[in-house]
Amino acid sequence: MSEIDKPNDEARGKDFIREIIDADLQSGRVSEVVTRFPPEPNGYLHIGHAKSICLNFAIAQEYSGRCHLRFDDTNPAKEEQEFIAAIQDDVRWLGFDWGQHLYHASDYFEQLYDWAEHLIKEGKAYVDDLSADEIRAHRGTLTEPGKDSPHRNRGADESLDLLRRMRQGEFEEGARVLRAKIDMTSGNINLRDPVLYRILKAEHPRTGNAWCIYPTYDFAHGQSDAIEGITHSLCTLEFADHRPLYDWFIESLPVPATPHQYEFSRLNLTHTVLSKRRLIQLVAEGHISGWDDPRMPTIAGLRRRGYPAAAIRDFAGRVGITKSDNVIEMALLEHCVREELNQSAPRRMGVLKPLKIVIENYPEDQEEMLEAVNNPGDETAGTRQVPFARELYIEQDDFMEDPPKKFFRMAPGREVRLRYAYFVTCREAVKNDAGEVVELICTYDPETRGGNAPDGRKVKATMHWVSARHAIDAELRLYNHLFTDEEPDIGDDIAAALNPDSLEILQGCKLEPSLASAKADQTLQLERQGYFCPDRDTSPERLIFNRAVPLRDSWAKLKAKTA
Ligand code: ATP
Ligand code: MG
Repeated sequence: MSEIDKPNDEARGKDFIREIIDADLQSGRVSEVVTRFPPEPNGYLHIGHAKSICLNFAIAQEYSGRCHLRFDDTNPAKEEQEFIAAIQDDVRWLGFDWGQHLYHASDYFEQLYDWAEHLIKEGKAYVDDLSADEIRAHRGTLTEPGKDSPHRNRGADESLDLLRRMRQGEFEEGARVLRAKIDMTSGNINLRDPVLYRILKAEHPRTGNAWCIYPTYDFAHGQSDAIEGITHSLCTLEFADHRPLYDWFIESLPVPATPHQYEFSRLNLTHTVLSKRRLIQLVAEGHISGWDDPRMPTIAGLRRRGYPAAAIRDFAGRVGITKSDNVIEMALLEHCVREELNQSAPRRMGVLKPLKIVIENYPEDQEEMLEAVNNPGDETAGTRQVPFARELYIEQDDFMEDPPKKFFRMAPGREVRLRYAYFVTCREAVKNDAGEVVELICTYDPETRGGNAPDGRKVKATMHWVSARHAIDAELRLYNHLFTDEEPDIGDDIAAALNPDSLEILQGCKLEPSLASAKADQTLQLERQGYFCPDRDTSPERLIFNRAVPLRDSWAKLKAKTA
């Protein structure tokens, strides 16, 4: 059994980060574990972020420490209040609580600025007048060293004066930047005098127009961790090359604590993209209906689609924390969703593609209520009453006029069970002028009420159904992978990589009446069809349900094949 197949946390070994924490506690390097999740509010959170959220908050829980939610809001040009609100909402929905510990890098702007002056006074930073293009040209490459800026050796007093004037708004955007003075020949490009402050005359969602210079992410990140006393700064592997720079800041500044950074591999998933840039593009170009489109890998999208938070947490645990890059099958996420919903989702009946049947020997004005089980795996879920009458709908796919050998469902002359109801036998298929079956004439056996024959005779199929008179109409939305290829190769044309069949809309579906009051965020199983949840746009006038996942488990199949 691979790590991924193990169903719960206890069965899995500790990951390398928890091993480090154990050692740190044992050696006394730390006494309390403090982690944080540090999103940049420039988009909605996706399932990759969920991996990081689950890691940081779960560690805080396990070690009785705490986890902060900190917005890395250093770039007002791209950040918005909408994203700040959505991120908090998503983290809470995932089941985590930061308590009093909600922070923003912008809370520390004054402190960060003081530290910038400190670096200048120490001869470790300077104001550079080169343009962004010139700085890039001076930076060198992986194989060539960079070149010093002509302003690199200007005096501390001059740099200090220029930085203060930058802050006063005296210069245009792009005219000057503050840079660290480290080493233009370093093998690590991040150490070639990185930019610490740039001029941005943009209104900030929190600080408004108080500032027109903003710290770079790199200058804000580690110092924010130090201010908050973060003991284990967890991030993805692409930041490993930045660690020497973060350590340089921490060594060069009078910070109150020394955070340590540990990197793990980011989550990649088949048939989708987890790059914020790409997700922003999908929204901006209108390829999907928005950030919470149920086909999006965003938390908001998965939630709207009907994925339970517990399934996402389970998934995050199963993919585990390592340092090796890999791509996880979307089928594993779907498997986790099915496992969770199989336990928790109430069962209901609904017909996706209706075919009317008429029970000839059932009196026209009669109707009765039959008892149906709400969840066969959970006795406490109880039962409900479903109405039965002479005219019913069954699934078009559950009837064949001329069935092949292995088709056991309804066919002329054959008896089947209608779940929780009766045995019925198809007597005749009624056709329209085009020769299509439009209705079935059936009979029922009144002795089989509840779905069992007193004489013990068996049938080979049990089918779902709804009463035609009582059924409610609904639109069902079925989803498929957003991208056709497992690992989409997106060039200039993102549309070309999209799966043209990612959304199928079924109108005129027939559901049992109890579903009229179904609530969003409550995913249920339509028996034999899959898990569905009311869309956020559903209304009594127009019921809309999203299919979270079908019942068929392609992950289990895949595993069976490779076992
Ligand atoms: P992108 O690189 O797509 O723009 P990002 O990583 O810059 O996204 P942030 O808001 O900065 O987005 O990320 C917040 C945290 O989530 C970071 O610590 C980052 O390492 C982590 N994270 C982002 N993407 C993933 C992923 N696919 N798997 C695991 N963690 C991730
Ligand atoms: Mg980032």
